[in-house]
Amino acid sequence: MERFLSEGKGRGLQARKEFAIGELVFTCPAYTHVLTVNERGNHCELCFARKEGLAKCGRCKLAFYCNVTCQKADWPMHKLECSSMSKFGQNWNPSETVRLLARILVKQKMHPEKTPSEELLAVSEFESHLDKLDNEKRELIESDIAALHHFYSKHLDFPDQAALIELFAKVNCNGFTIEDEELSHLGSAIFPSVALMNHSCCPNVIVTYKGTTAEVRAVKEIHAGEEIFTSYIDLLYPTEDRQDRLRDSYFFTCDCRECATKAKDKEKLELTKYGEPPKPEVIKDMIKYARNIIEEFRRAKHYKTPSELLEICELSLDKMGSTFEDNNVYMLHMMYQAMGVCLYMQDWDGALRYGQKIIKPYSKHYPAYSLNVASMWLKLGRLYMGLEHYSAGAKALRKALTIMEVAHGKDHPYVLEIQKELEGK
Ligand SMILES: [Zn+2]
Ligand SMILES: [Zn+2]
Ligand SMILES: [Zn+2]
Repeated sequence: MERFLSEGKGRGLQARKEFAIGELVFTCPAYTHVLTVNERGNHCELCFARKEGLAKCGRCKLAFYCNVTCQKADWPMHKLECSSMSKFGQNWNPSETVRLLARILVKQKMHPEKTPSEELLAVSEFESHLDKLDNEKRELIESDIAALHHFYSKHLDFPDQAALIELFAKVNCNGFTIEDEELSHLGSAIFPSVALMNHSCCPNVIVTYKGTTAEVRAVKEIHAGEEIFTSYIDLLYPTEDRQDRLRDSYFFTCDCRECATKAKDKEKLELTKYGEPPKPEVIKDMIKYARNIIEEFRRAKHYKTPSELLEICELSLDKMGSTFEDNNVYMLHMMYQAMGVCLYMQDWDGALRYGQKIIKPYSKHYPAYSLNVASMWLKLGRLYMGLEHYSAGAKALRKALTIMEVAHGKDHPYVLEIQKELEGK
């Protein structure tokens, strides 16, 4: 593939040859990356390997590694936080963006020439959309900059304020989050070459991660001369919601086939079949309510107890159920949240009940190869297995594998692990 100028989209990535479904298009090692605080001890800080018995950093006792080799290689980055975490204790709370940005500053200093991660696009070429930032976004960046100075001043020389604002804006538009096979958040990273790809709501590739390397695989047949598109967002939602999200986070309006035809919107917003069909203003009000409750729940997750959260889910599902069918995406969103709370509370039966309701409509709303669908099959499969429903479990795990063998590749550690889970039963 090669970089080219995509009509109306600026630069993009174009295929120079055919790619079959499941074929690896390219890989990109992380320019820099950071493990999320909640996964400390589960994954190596350097290579993101997931295993038991990782070795602790003797100084802070908060960073964990496969071995001394990983620890030594990570020191230029970990040094930024090691003594600072001990010094600030409970008050050490920079955002993950701040942590990632500190590492970018170190990387730029250590490696000023082009890195292997920048083969197709350099960090210095990232789009910042600085002129489009509203006050709210500017203030968020300014508070991140304050935290950067507060927690990282000992080991870093900072560029001036204007340069820092621009760098934060670039990271906000071009940064990636790394997730595991169940879509749990593992960390954040910069993959410059991957950031070259434009967005489509009907993407022809999927990005997955092997350790801290991004892998891009075809999920549709791609012909020579075609542009390569990934999706920047969750594709569950109807066109208007996707467009809002893309405008707010990435400052453009999508003109993909799905956005032009809105072909899936009707199914995604399916109305209840009981009684009289709901009136247009009732539908409009309920969509507004749904969007609000989604936002309210997102915030509530930070301070409410699991049982309070579950109550929000149940009440909103009850209310929306008067207008929406169960496979309506707003219903599915709240069921998915409820399933997450059940998993957190180790209420396996509750989680299973929600998962069973979600999976069929999920498969319909998402594209054929979707990490959201694969991870839902996987969670279901593991729940069934745990509850000793072995044949249902095996069936679900095989469904997950069918998608993951294409999206992750047949030799990905996650795929091999699931194959082992299948052989065990
Ligand atoms: Zn390691
Ligand atoms: Zn340490
Ligand atoms: Zn679109």
